[in-house]
Amino acid sequence: MSSRRAVPPSSNGAPLSGFFSVFRYSRRALELVWSTSRGLTLGLALCTLVAGILPAVAAWVGQLIVDAVVAAMESHQNDETASALETAWPVLRYVALEALVIACIALAQRGLSAQQSLLRALLGQKVNVMILEKAGHLSLAQFEDSELYDQLTRARREASSRPLALVNKTFSLLQNAISLASFGVLLVQFSPWALLILVIGALPVFASEAKFSGDAFRLFRWRSPQTRMQIYLETVLAREDTIKEVKLFGLAPLFLQRYRDIFRTLYAEDRGLTIRRDTWGFLLGLLGTLAFYGAYAWVVVETVAGTLTLGEMTMYLMVFKQGQAALSASLTAISGMYEDNLYLSNLYEYLEQPTEADSGQRRTGELPGDGIRFEHVAFRYPGMDEPVLQDIDLHLRPGESLALVGENGSGKTTLIKLLTRLYAPSEGRILLDGSDLSDWELATLRRRIGVIFQDFVRYQLPVGENLGVGDVDAFHDEARWKAAAQSGLADGFIAGLGGGYHTQLGRWFKGGQELSGGQWQKIALSRAYMREHADILVLDEPTAAMDAAAEADVYAQFREHARDKMTILISHRFSTVRAADQILVMAHGRIVERGNHEDLLAENGRYAHLFRLQAAGYR
Ligand code: ADP
Repeated sequence: MSSRRAVPPSSNGAPLSGFFSVFRYSRRALELVWSTSRGLTLGLALCTLVAGILPAVAAWVGQLIVDAVVAAMESHQNDETASALETAWPVLRYVALEALVIACIALAQRGLSAQQSLLRALLGQKVNVMILEKAGHLSLAQFEDSELYDQLTRARREASSRPLALVNKTFSLLQNAISLASFGVLLVQFSPWALLILVIGALPVFASEAKFSGDAFRLFRWRSPQTRMQIYLETVLAREDTIKEVKLFGLAPLFLQRYRDIFRTLYAEDRGLTIRRDTWGFLLGLLGTLAFYGAYAWVVVETVAGTLTLGEMTMYLMVFKQGQAALSASLTAISGMYEDNLYLSNLYEYLEQPTEADSGQRRTGELPGDGIRFEHVAFRYPGMDEPVLQDIDLHLRPGESLALVGENGSGKTTLIKLLTRLYAPSEGRILLDGSDLSDWELATLRRRIGVIFQDFVRYQLPVGENLGVGDVDAFHDEARWKAAAQSGLADGFIAGLGGGYHTQLGRWFKGGQELSGGQWQKIALSRAYMREHADILVLDEPTAAMDAAAEADVYAQFREHARDKMTILISHRFSTVRAADQILVMAHGRIVERGNHEDLLAENGRYAHLFRLQAAGYR
């Protein structure tokens, strides 16, 4: 997958392809803007057109004014009886016309900026919603793919500015192109050759600008892993949940140095490109300016020779000045477009990630009441060579409890991820009530399972909502919160919090209160009890942070609650494990022993050894 973006920056790409790469995403940005608001997009287009054409009209009216003034001066000298105002009257009409044109240009420009700010807000919201909706459909494996995660973070960072920036620049380019074309219409009357010289003079600088923009585009994509590391370091150095360790271990200087080093290499690359780009831009730009002033001189000579009127000369003068300005504005637009393109390419790559279709339809199994079966299940994580689970067979019936025991990394959590269909097995199958997990409708399946992972989420939300997340249908149901908290033995300390169930938890928001590890675990347990309809309960080391007494209470309560359900428990404490109907001892992804506590002790294997070890610790 990494080959997808490992394109090194090339400095010898064809200028033409470089030129078009700048526009690669303009169409898509336009579609995005169009679908956000048709009215505003049309308004933007209209204002662009008006602001593009009117400058040439103003120049043309300028010519009419000067020529009319010259004519009026002559007639005033010939006919002294008429007042100056009378003679000047036709000219004043042109002056009024030019004022009107200039007012229209101002109006169009105001219209552009107003519509742009409105669109920016709408578009930012729309793109963010698109990104987050997509995130909801990605699989866990996709989230764990560092490149995809990278795309997601980058897409989110500039969602509100980039798409519109690209549209604005495309439109500004268009507006300036229209201006240049309309100036061309005026100029061609002077001499088609002059026009040709100007066009040819401007082409090289356009081509170089586009080429270097293409290079910058490739450079940015290629070095995204370094940028990602920088972002990560920023996060570690400046976040509440990491700062504790960073301080105590004195990591800040170390990480900051790494941060600086990355910047230094990136900066060196940037500097090289910037210098090359601007040197070429300047040299080739001189060519354009030379052509311009050549044509300018030609106009002056023709006027002195009497071929052009004074008014025509004024017009061409204006056309040259404004043409130069339009040209440099176009160049600026092009050179800024690569960054916007970069953003959009990233956004669309992310949005077009294939997501697994939920093909399953089952709401009941073929053998209701059969429970969970693993048949020769094996699993390897995407991109890993070694299987993490191998040859797993197990059967758990309703009303039974299963405990998983084994050292860290033996595959216990992975087994739970397979059961909850966060991943699909690489070999073998997993059945629920006689039907393959993949045939079940995902929503039905998830509703039947209540899981508390070791790394459950500590939501920066009020206590009640921290419980409510366990059952979205009862998210706001206070009575259900309280019942769940009672089952999870959390009601005691919740009552002691200032705002009871409405106390804000965590430190991110004002008035938030932090809980101890054990208290958070009770919140998580209560969350599991919120899942009334779940008949499969999975607890992955749910009491590791609790004291012994609290833990004993929690399990007494749990056994009571889970009487007719299937329960799976992962724990390192044999005091809790021993009560399970079935105990599976795992090592290196395989089940190495199975049975109940007495069987396993009698077997005198690994379980018995570990049990005695722990028991000895308590004696
Ligand atoms: P346990 O829960 O028994 O401590 P896990 O199931 O979490 O073990 O992990 C089993 C093995 O799988 C470990 O070697 C771990 O490094 C690996 N592993 C866990 N999660 C991932 C993942 N998302 N991608 C790749 N390997 C993983």
